[in-house]
Amino acid sequence: MRVRLRNPDRDVEVAGPLTVADLLDHLDVLPHTVLVLHDGALVTAAHELPADAEVEIRPVISGGAEGAPRCVVCRAPAVLEERRHRAAWCTAHLEDHIHNQIRRAIDHPPGLPHSERMCSYADRLLIAVSGGKDSLALWAALVDMGYRVDGLYVGLGIGGYSQRSQQVCERFAAERGLRLHVVDLAETYGYTTPGGASAAGRSTCGVCGLSKRYAFNRVAVEHGYDVVVTGHNLDDEAATLLGNVLRWQDTFLARQHPVLPATGTNQVRKIKPLYRLSERETAAYCVIRGIDYVVEECPLVDGNTGHELKAAFDLLEHASPGLKAQFLFGFYERQQRLVDRSVEEQVEVGECTGCGMPTTGRLCAFCRQRELILAVLPMTAGATGPAAGPVPTARR
Ligand code: SF4
Ligand SMILES: [Zn+2]
Ligand SMILES: [Zn+2]
Repeated sequence: MRVRLRNPDRDVEVAGPLTVADLLDHLDVLPHTVLVLHDGALVTAAHELPADAEVEIRPVISGGAEGAPRCVVCRAPAVLEERRHRAAWCTAHLEDHIHNQIRRAIDHPPGLPHSERMCSYADRLLIAVSGGKDSLALWAALVDMGYRVDGLYVGLGIGGYSQRSQQVCERFAAERGLRLHVVDLAETYGYTTPGGASAAGRSTCGVCGLSKRYAFNRVAVEHGYDVVVTGHNLDDEAATLLGNVLRWQDTFLARQHPVLPATGTNQVRKIKPLYRLSERETAAYCVIRGIDYVVEECPLVDGNTGHELKAAFDLLEHASPGLKAQFLFGFYERQQRLVDRSVEEQVEVGECTGCGMPTTGRLCAFCRQRELILAVLPMTAGATGPAAGPVPTARR
Protein backbone atom coordinates (compact mmCIF):
# COMPACT_ATOMS: atom_id res chain seq x y z
CA MET A 1 0.00 0.00 0.00
CA ARG A 2 1.08 3.59 -0.53
CA VAL A 3 1.20 5.68 2.64
CA ARG A 4 1.46 9.45 2.57
CA LEU A 5 3.13 10.97 5.63
CA ARG A 6 3.09 14.70 6.32
CA ASN A 7 5.45 17.32 7.78
CA PRO A 8 7.64 16.71 5.90
CA ASP A 9 5.54 15.29 3.02
CA ARG A 10 6.72 11.87 1.86
CA ASP A 11 5.28 8.67 0.39
CA VAL A 12 6.31 5.22 1.61
CA GLU A 13 5.36 1.76 0.34
CA VAL A 14 4.30 -0.74 3.00
CA ALA A 15 3.40 -4.39 2.38
CA GLY A 16 -0.24 -5.20 3.25
CA PRO A 17 -2.91 -6.01 4.12
CA LEU A 18 -2.60 -4.52 7.61
CA THR A 19 -4.87 -3.05 10.23
CA VAL A 20 -4.46 0.67 10.90
CA ALA A 21 -3.03 -0.15 14.34
CA ASP A 22 -0.40 -2.48 12.81
CA LEU A 23 0.51 0.07 10.15
CA LEU A 24 1.08 2.80 12.74
CA ASP A 25 3.10 0.39 14.85
CA HIS A 26 5.19 -0.57 11.80
CA LEU A 27 5.87 3.12 11.05
CA ASP A 28 6.54 3.89 14.71
CA VAL A 29 3.81 6.56 14.78
CA LEU A 30 1.95 7.20 18.06
CA PRO A 31 -1.73 6.52 17.23
CA HIS A 32 -3.00 9.43 19.32
CA THR A 33 -0.97 11.98 17.35
CA VAL A 34 -2.56 11.31 13.95
CA LEU A 35 -5.70 10.85 11.92
CA VAL A 36 -5.68 8.01 9.38
CA LEU A 37 -7.54 8.43 6.09
CA HIS A 38 -8.19 5.52 3.70
CA ASP A 39 -9.32 6.75 0.27
CA GLY A 40 -10.07 10.12 1.87
CA ALA A 41 -12.32 8.74 4.65
CA LEU A 42 -11.44 8.59 8.35
CA VAL A 43 -10.79 5.09 9.68
CA THR A 44 -10.20 3.70 13.17
CA ALA A 45 -7.51 1.44 14.65
CA ALA A 46 -9.18 -1.89 13.83
CA HIS A 47 -9.89 -0.98 10.18
CA GLU A 48 -8.30 -3.42 7.69
CA LEU A 49 -6.25 -1.75 4.94
CA PRO A 50 -5.97 -3.82 1.73
CA ALA A 51 -2.59 -4.37 0.04
CA ASP A 52 -3.33 -1.74 -2.62
CA ALA A 53 -4.73 0.89 -0.22
CA GLU A 54 -3.99 4.60 -0.59
CA VAL A 55 -3.51 5.86 2.94
CA GLU A 56 -2.80 9.29 4.42
CA ILE A 57 -1.45 9.70 7.93
CA ARG A 58 -2.20 13.24 8.99
CA PRO A 59 -0.49 14.68 12.07
CA VAL A 60 -2.71 16.40 14.62
CA ILE A 61 -0.74 16.06 17.86
CA SER A 62 -3.28 14.91 20.40
CA GLY A 63 -5.97 12.67 21.90
CA GLY A 64 -6.10 9.11 20.56
CA ALA A 65 -7.85 5.91 21.38
CA GLU A 66 -7.80 2.22 20.92
CA GLY A 67 -10.54 -0.32 20.26
CA ALA A 68 -13.91 1.53 20.39
CA PRO A 69 -15.00 1.12 16.83
CA ARG A 70 -18.73 1.75 17.36
CA CYS A 71 -20.44 5.08 17.90
CA VAL A 72 -21.39 5.57 21.57
CA VAL A 73 -24.72 7.08 20.52
CA CYS A 74 -26.06 4.92 17.69
CA ARG A 75 -23.62 1.94 17.53
CA ALA A 76 -22.89 2.63 13.84
CA PRO A 77 -19.23 2.17 12.76
CA ALA A 78 -17.18 4.97 14.31
CA VAL A 79 -14.92 7.38 12.42
CA LEU A 80 -13.11 8.78 15.46
CA GLU A 81 -12.15 7.41 18.86
CA GLU A 82 -10.99 9.55 21.80
CA ARG A 83 -9.50 7.76 24.78
CA ARG A 84 -9.92 10.95 26.81
CA HIS A 85 -13.69 10.64 26.48
CA ARG A 86 -13.59 6.81 26.39
CA ALA A 87 -15.84 7.21 23.37
CA ALA A 88 -16.10 6.94 19.60
CA TRP A 89 -18.54 8.54 17.19
CA CYS A 90 -20.01 8.05 13.74
CA THR A 91 -19.88 11.04 11.39
CA ALA A 92 -23.24 12.52 12.43
CA HIS A 93 -22.64 12.12 16.15
CA LEU A 94 -19.07 13.40 15.93
CA GLU A 95 -20.50 16.62 14.53
CA ASP A 96 -23.01 16.74 17.42
CA HIS A 97 -20.22 16.09 19.92
CA ILE A 98 -18.12 18.97 18.57
CA HIS A 99 -21.10 21.36 18.59
CA ASN A 100 -22.06 20.25 22.12
CA GLN A 101 -18.56 20.95 23.44
CA ILE A 102 -18.54 24.41 21.83
CA ARG A 103 -22.04 25.08 23.18
CA ARG A 104 -20.94 24.07 26.67
CA ALA A 105 -17.84 26.28 26.46
CA ILE A 106 -19.91 29.31 25.35
CA ASP A 107 -22.80 28.85 27.77
CA HIS A 108 -20.81 27.83 30.85
CA PRO A 109 -17.35 29.37 30.81
CA PRO A 110 -15.34 27.99 33.76
CA GLY A 111 -15.22 29.92 37.02
CA LEU A 112 -17.78 32.55 35.94
CA PRO A 113 -21.30 33.07 37.36
CA HIS A 114 -23.83 30.69 35.83
CA SER A 115 -25.62 33.39 33.84
CA GLU A 116 -22.45 34.64 32.11
CA ARG A 117 -21.79 33.50 28.56
CA MET A 118 -18.83 33.95 26.27
CA CYS A 119 -21.04 35.70 23.72
CA SER A 120 -24.66 36.06 22.65
CA TYR A 121 -26.52 35.78 19.35
CA ALA A 122 -26.81 39.58 19.30
CA ASP A 123 -23.02 40.04 19.36
CA ARG A 124 -21.02 40.66 16.21
CA LEU A 125 -18.10 38.22 16.34
CA LEU A 126 -14.77 38.50 14.55
CA ILE A 127 -12.87 35.22 14.26
CA ALA A 128 -9.12 35.24 13.63
CA VAL A 129 -8.44 32.61 10.95
CA SER A 130 -5.03 31.29 9.97
CA GLY A 131 -6.07 28.75 7.32
CA GLY A 132 -5.43 25.94 9.82
CA LYS A 133 -7.96 23.39 11.05
CA ASP A 134 -8.94 24.96 14.37
CA SER A 135 -10.03 28.41 13.32
CA LEU A 136 -11.82 27.22 10.15
CA ALA A 137 -13.60 24.42 12.03
CA LEU A 138 -14.71 26.93 14.65
CA TRP A 139 -15.89 29.46 12.07
CA ALA A 140 -17.99 26.80 10.32
CA ALA A 141 -19.42 25.51 13.61
CA LEU A 142 -20.33 28.98 14.96
CA VAL A 143 -22.07 29.93 11.71
CA ASP A 144 -24.02 26.64 11.82
CA MET A 145 -25.00 27.35 15.41
CA GLY A 146 -26.51 30.68 14.35
CA TYR A 147 -23.86 33.20 15.45
CA ARG A 148 -22.98 36.28 13.39
CA VAL A 149 -19.30 35.77 12.60
CA ASP A 150 -16.95 37.50 10.17
CA GLY A 151 -13.32 36.41 9.65
CA LEU A 152 -9.94 38.12 9.82
CA TYR A 153 -6.80 36.84 8.16
CA VAL A 154 -3.47 38.49 8.98
CA GLY A 155 -0.84 38.11 6.24
CA LEU A 156 2.44 37.49 8.06
CA GLY A 157 4.68 37.47 4.98
CA ILE A 158 6.01 33.94 5.57
CA GLY A 159 6.56 33.19 1.86
CA GLY A 160 4.47 30.54 0.12
CA TYR A 161 3.04 29.33 3.42
CA SER A 162 1.30 32.67 3.99
CA GLN A 163 0.07 32.80 0.40
CA ARG A 164 -1.44 29.31 0.60
CA SER A 165 -3.01 30.08 3.97
CA GLN A 166 -4.64 33.26 2.66
CA GLN A 167 -6.01 31.44 -0.40
CA VAL A 168 -7.56 28.74 1.80
CA CYS A 169 -9.24 31.36 4.02
CA GLU A 170 -10.50 33.35 1.04
CA ARG A 171 -11.91 30.23 -0.60
CA PHE A 172 -13.58 29.13 2.66
CA ALA A 173 -15.28 32.51 3.04
CA ALA A 174 -16.27 32.84 -0.64
CA GLU A 175 -17.80 29.35 -0.79
CA ARG A 176 -20.01 30.11 2.21
CA GLY A 177 -20.79 33.76 1.44
CA LEU A 178 -18.99 34.95 4.58
CA ARG A 179 -17.11 38.21 5.08
CA LEU A 180 -13.33 38.01 5.47
CA HIS A 181 -11.09 40.95 6.39
CA VAL A 182 -7.47 40.66 5.27
CA VAL A 183 -4.69 42.67 6.89
CA ASP A 184 -1.24 42.35 5.37
CA LEU A 185 1.49 43.15 7.91
CA ALA A 186 3.90 44.46 5.28
CA GLU A 187 1.32 46.65 3.52
CA THR A 188 -0.25 48.01 6.69
CA TYR A 189 2.62 48.16 9.15
CA GLY A 190 5.75 48.03 6.99
CA TYR A 191 7.31 44.68 7.90
CA THR A 192 6.90 40.94 7.51
CA THR A 193 7.18 38.56 10.46
CA PRO A 194 10.59 37.11 9.50
CA GLY A 195 11.96 40.54 8.44
CA GLY A 196 10.69 42.22 11.59
CA ALA A 197 12.13 39.53 13.83
CA SER A 198 15.62 39.76 12.37
CA ALA A 199 15.54 43.58 12.39
CA ALA A 200 14.43 43.70 16.03
CA GLY A 201 16.66 40.81 17.11
CA ARG A 202 13.61 39.10 18.61
CA SER A 203 12.15 35.63 18.15
CA THR A 204 9.99 35.23 15.05
CA CYS A 205 7.11 33.78 17.05
CA GLY A 206 7.35 36.64 19.55
CA VAL A 207 7.08 39.29 16.81
CA CYS A 208 4.39 37.26 15.05
CA GLY A 209 2.27 36.76 18.17
CA LEU A 210 2.35 40.40 19.23
CA SER A 211 1.56 41.61 15.69
CA LYS A 212 -1.38 39.21 15.34
CA ARG A 213 -2.88 40.06 18.74
CA TYR A 214 -2.61 43.76 17.90
CA ALA A 215 -4.22 43.36 14.47
CA PHE A 216 -7.09 41.23 15.84
CA ASN A 217 -8.01 43.83 18.45
CA ARG A 218 -7.48 46.80 16.16
CA VAL A 219 -9.63 45.48 13.31
CA ALA A 220 -12.33 44.52 15.84
CA VAL A 221 -12.31 48.05 17.31
CA GLU A 222 -12.23 49.77 13.90
CA HIS A 223 -15.19 47.77 12.61
CA GLY A 224 -17.26 47.79 15.79
CA TYR A 225 -17.15 44.06 16.59
CA ASP A 226 -18.18 43.01 20.10
CA VAL A 227 -15.99 39.96 20.49
CA VAL A 228 -12.75 38.54 19.04
CA VAL A 229 -12.82 34.74 18.71
CA THR A 230 -9.67 32.62 18.44
CA GLY A 231 -9.26 28.93 17.64
CA HIS A 232 -7.07 28.02 20.64
CA ASN A 233 -7.89 24.43 21.56
CA LEU A 234 -7.36 22.16 24.56
CA ASP A 235 -3.83 21.20 23.44
CA ASP A 236 -2.82 24.85 22.98
CA GLU A 237 -4.20 25.94 26.31
CA ALA A 238 -2.83 22.97 28.27
CA ALA A 239 0.65 23.54 26.79
CA THR A 240 0.48 27.27 27.56
CA LEU A 241 -0.57 26.53 31.12
CA LEU A 242 2.24 24.01 31.51
CA GLY A 243 4.76 26.62 30.28
CA ASN A 244 3.35 29.28 32.62
CA VAL A 245 3.54 26.91 35.59
CA LEU A 246 7.05 25.68 34.73
CA ARG A 247 8.29 29.28 34.64
CA TRP A 248 5.94 30.52 37.41
CA GLN A 249 4.71 33.39 35.29
CA ASP A 250 2.18 34.87 37.71
CA THR A 251 0.71 37.53 35.46
CA PHE A 252 0.24 35.07 32.58
CA LEU A 253 -1.40 32.61 34.97
CA ALA A 254 -3.75 35.37 36.12
CA ARG A 255 -4.66 36.18 32.53
CA GLN A 256 -5.02 32.63 31.19
CA HIS A 257 -8.73 32.08 30.70
CA PRO A 258 -11.06 31.26 27.77
CA VAL A 259 -12.81 34.60 28.32
CA LEU A 260 -10.71 37.77 28.53
CA PRO A 261 -12.93 40.77 29.23
CA ALA A 262 -12.18 44.15 27.65
CA THR A 263 -10.34 46.12 30.33
CA GLY A 264 -10.37 49.57 28.75
CA THR A 265 -11.47 51.62 25.76
CA ASN A 266 -10.40 50.37 22.35
CA GLN A 267 -10.31 46.84 23.64
CA VAL A 268 -12.61 43.99 22.68
CA ARG A 269 -13.51 40.87 24.68
CA LYS A 270 -11.63 37.75 23.56
CA ILE A 271 -13.01 34.24 23.74
CA LYS A 272 -11.72 30.71 23.04
CA PRO A 273 -14.73 28.45 22.45
CA LEU A 274 -12.53 25.45 21.43
CA TYR A 275 -10.79 25.11 24.78
CA ARG A 276 -12.68 21.87 25.50
CA LEU A 277 -11.69 20.19 22.20
CA SER A 278 -8.41 18.60 21.12
CA GLU A 279 -6.64 19.27 17.84
CA ARG A 280 -7.49 15.77 16.79
CA GLU A 281 -11.20 16.46 17.20
CA THR A 282 -11.09 19.73 15.23
CA ALA A 283 -9.06 18.09 12.45
CA ALA A 284 -11.60 15.26 12.25
CA TYR A 285 -14.43 17.82 12.17
CA CYS A 286 -12.80 19.49 9.15
CA VAL A 287 -12.55 16.14 7.35
CA ILE A 288 -16.19 15.17 7.94
CA ARG A 289 -17.43 18.67 7.03
CA GLY A 290 -15.29 18.79 3.87
CA ILE A 291 -13.38 21.85 5.11
CA ASP A 292 -10.14 22.33 3.22
CA TYR A 293 -7.39 23.55 5.55
CA VAL A 294 -3.63 24.04 5.47
CA VAL A 295 -2.11 20.82 6.80
CA GLU A 296 1.50 21.97 6.54
CA GLU A 297 3.12 23.55 9.58
CA CYS A 298 4.47 27.10 9.59
CA PRO A 299 8.09 26.73 8.39
CA LEU A 300 9.22 28.85 11.36
CA VAL A 301 7.62 26.60 13.98
CA ASP A 302 10.98 25.23 15.14
CA GLY A 303 11.56 28.33 17.25
CA ASN A 304 8.20 27.97 18.97
CA THR A 305 8.60 26.76 22.57
CA GLY A 306 4.85 26.19 22.85
CA HIS A 307 5.20 23.56 20.15
CA GLU A 308 7.86 21.71 22.16
CA LEU A 309 5.70 21.81 25.28
CA LYS A 310 2.84 20.37 23.27
CA ALA A 311 5.02 17.50 22.07
CA ALA A 312 6.22 16.81 25.63
CA PHE A 313 2.66 16.89 26.97
CA ASP A 314 1.59 14.47 24.22
CA LEU A 315 3.85 11.81 25.70
CA LEU A 316 2.15 12.23 29.09
CA GLU A 317 -1.29 12.22 27.48
CA HIS A 318 -0.43 9.00 25.67
CA ALA A 319 0.49 7.35 28.97
CA SER A 320 -2.49 8.81 30.81
CA PRO A 321 -5.38 9.80 28.51
CA GLY A 322 -7.32 12.75 29.82
CA LEU A 323 -4.41 14.30 31.68
CA LYS A 324 -4.44 17.49 29.60
CA ALA A 325 -8.13 18.12 30.21
CA GLN A 326 -7.74 17.33 33.91
CA PHE A 327 -4.81 19.75 34.18
CA LEU A 328 -6.48 22.59 32.30
CA PHE A 329 -10.04 22.29 33.60
CA GLY A 330 -8.71 21.70 37.13
CA PHE A 331 -6.74 24.92 36.88
CA TYR A 332 -9.79 26.91 35.79
CA GLU A 333 -11.77 25.51 38.72
CA ARG A 334 -9.04 26.56 41.16
CA GLN A 335 -7.85 29.71 39.39
CA GLN A 336 -9.57 32.15 41.75
CA ARG A 337 -8.00 30.45 44.76
CA LEU A 338 -4.56 29.92 43.23
CA VAL A 339 -3.99 33.17 41.39
CA ASP A 340 -4.60 36.74 42.44
CA ARG A 341 -6.41 38.13 39.39
CA SER A 342 -6.86 41.47 41.15
CA VAL A 343 -3.16 42.22 40.46
CA GLU A 344 -4.15 42.41 36.80
CA GLU A 345 -7.23 44.50 37.47
CA GLN A 346 -5.28 47.09 39.48
CA VAL A 347 -2.96 47.90 36.58
CA GLU A 348 -3.97 51.25 35.11
CA VAL A 349 -4.68 51.03 31.39
CA GLY A 350 -4.37 54.18 29.28
CA GLU A 351 -4.18 54.97 25.55
CA CYS A 352 -1.05 54.56 23.44
CA THR A 353 0.20 57.95 22.24
CA GLY A 354 1.09 56.39 18.88
CA CYS A 355 -2.06 54.49 17.96
CA GLY A 356 -4.67 55.01 20.68
CA MET A 357 -4.87 51.33 21.59
CA PRO A 358 -4.79 50.29 25.28
CA THR A 359 -1.44 50.27 27.09
CA THR A 360 -0.03 50.62 30.57
CA GLY A 361 2.81 52.85 29.33
CA ARG A 362 3.21 55.74 26.88
CA LEU A 363 3.57 53.63 23.76
CA CYS A 364 1.93 50.20 23.47
CA ALA A 365 4.11 47.09 23.08
CA PHE A 366 3.20 46.86 19.40
CA CYS A 367 4.22 50.46 18.62
CA ARG A 368 7.48 49.99 20.57
CA GLN A 369 8.24 46.84 18.62
CA ARG A 370 7.36 48.53 15.34
CA GLU A 371 9.57 51.53 16.08
CA LEU A 372 12.46 49.17 16.73
CA ILE A 373 11.86 47.28 13.48
CA LEU A 374 11.37 50.34 11.27
CA ALA A 375 14.54 51.94 12.63
CA VAL A 376 16.38 49.12 10.88
CA LEU A 377 14.09 48.19 7.98
CA PRO A 378 13.02 50.59 5.24
CA MET A 379 9.27 51.10 5.40
CA THR A 380 7.35 48.99 2.87
CA ALA A 381 5.50 51.09 0.32
CA GLY A 382 1.85 51.38 1.28
CA ALA A 383 2.28 51.13 5.05
CA THR A 384 0.29 53.76 6.89
CA GLY A 385 2.97 55.72 8.76
CA PRO A 386 5.36 55.44 11.68
CA ALA A 387 2.77 54.39 14.23
CA ALA A 388 0.14 53.06 11.83
CA GLY A 389 -1.98 56.06 12.74
CA PRO A 390 -4.59 56.47 15.46
CA VAL A 391 -7.64 54.22 15.55
CA PRO A 392 -10.44 55.70 13.47
CA THR A 393 -14.05 55.69 14.68
CA ALA A 394 -15.72 52.30 14.38
CA ARG A 395 -17.14 51.53 10.94
CA ARG A 396 -19.07 48.44 9.94
S1 SF4 B 1 4.95 29.25 14.27
FE1 SF4 B 1 5.61 31.27 15.04
S2 SF4 B 1 6.00 32.46 13.17
FE2 SF4 B 1 4.80 30.66 12.54
S3 SF4 B 1 2.66 31.40 12.59
FE3 SF4 B 1 3.08 30.45 14.60
S4 SF4 B 1 3.73 32.17 15.90
FE4 SF4 B 1 3.87 32.87 13.77
ZN1 LIG C 1 -23.71 7.62 15.79
ZN1 LIG D 1 0.35 51.77 19.93
